[in-house]
Amino acid sequence: MVSIFKNLFIHFRTWIKFLIILAIGLGIIFFIVFSVYKPMYAVTIEGKFMGYTEDKSKLQNKISEYMKSGNDESNIAFVDIEVLPEYSFCLLKKDFNSEDESIFNEIIKTGITYYKYYAVLVNSEEKCYVSTYQECENIIQGLKDKDSQNKDNVTYVVKYETTLKEFTNTEKAVADLYVEKPKPPVVPKKTYNSGSVPTSALFNYGVTDLGISLIRPISGTITSRFGSISSRRSSAHTGLDIGASTGTPIKAVAGGTVIFSGWKGAYGKMIALDHGNGVLTYYAHCSALYKNVGEYVNQGDIISAVGNTGNSSGPHLHIEIRVNGVAYNPEKFIY
Ligand SMILES: [Zn+2]
Repeated sequence: MVSIFKNLFIHFRTWIKFLIILAIGLGIIFFIVFSVYKPMYAVTIEGKFMGYTEDKSKLQNKISEYMKSGNDESNIAFVDIEVLPEYSFCLLKKDFNSEDESIFNEIIKTGITYYKYYAVLVNSEEKCYVSTYQECENIIQGLKDKDSQNKDNVTYVVKYETTLKEFTNTEKAVADLYVEKPKPPVVPKKTYNSGSVPTSALFNYGVTDLGISLIRPISGTITSRFGSISSRRSSAHTGLDIGASTGTPIKAVAGGTVIFSGWKGAYGKMIALDHGNGVLTYYAHCSALYKNVGEYVNQGDIISAVGNTGNSSGPHLHIEIRVNGVAYNPEKFIY
């Protein structure tokens, strides 16, 4: 029994010695090898050699990340690479550098690059392209600030394309897309100054020196006299009515300045002249007025036409002569 154990022990010791020598030998070989060489990977795509890398997972991650997320700065959204690189182990001399950068560049060249950018649209038509959505927002805001006519028709969409468009900067885009709003038509403000005249029911049934001689404004028939009372009027008649057909020209009884030309309530269309020295003449119920306030007319000039406007029951001229606001009987001066 003892000798069997002894034999085994001797064998065991021989094995141990052998293994130790083997380990030392391998160690020396490894030491020599790895002091000169280092482990690397040859990268190939479809058998085409791309280069060597020291860290295949780092390189592969970089490629995967790029395929998935692209590169914002270059507007690359993602890259479609159909065939992925293969890695095979090899030993290269220690001073050999990784070629990750050039491998990466070669590999992404084999893929289809999709660019991400934004199109700015006006009425659904692509007008220009920008890099970021923030620029789109800025362009729209710019057009709003300038109150561009198309400000509400501007939108944007994200684009994924294999070619990149030329970008337009915000300032230029706003300037290019701006459309001036049509200006509201300028309506000249009619300063319709019809003037003003006294119409109070102050009567003087006598005569006064007007300082001027008057002519008849129209020829016709007297239909209502000065001072007459009528249910049609709130007070006695402040003028003289002369019937004539509509359109009959009315002449200025004397030279003077037009101080009223327009609508005057119950008088209808009326024109009034100032002859100086407080003397005014009124021509009421006209169908047409031919002179404007401020114009000077000579005696006999056609200033208006007979009509039936205002409180009137038929075409006639209502003429008044007023001196310092008091109505005088026209009949005593002109008929
Ligand atoms: Zn009258």
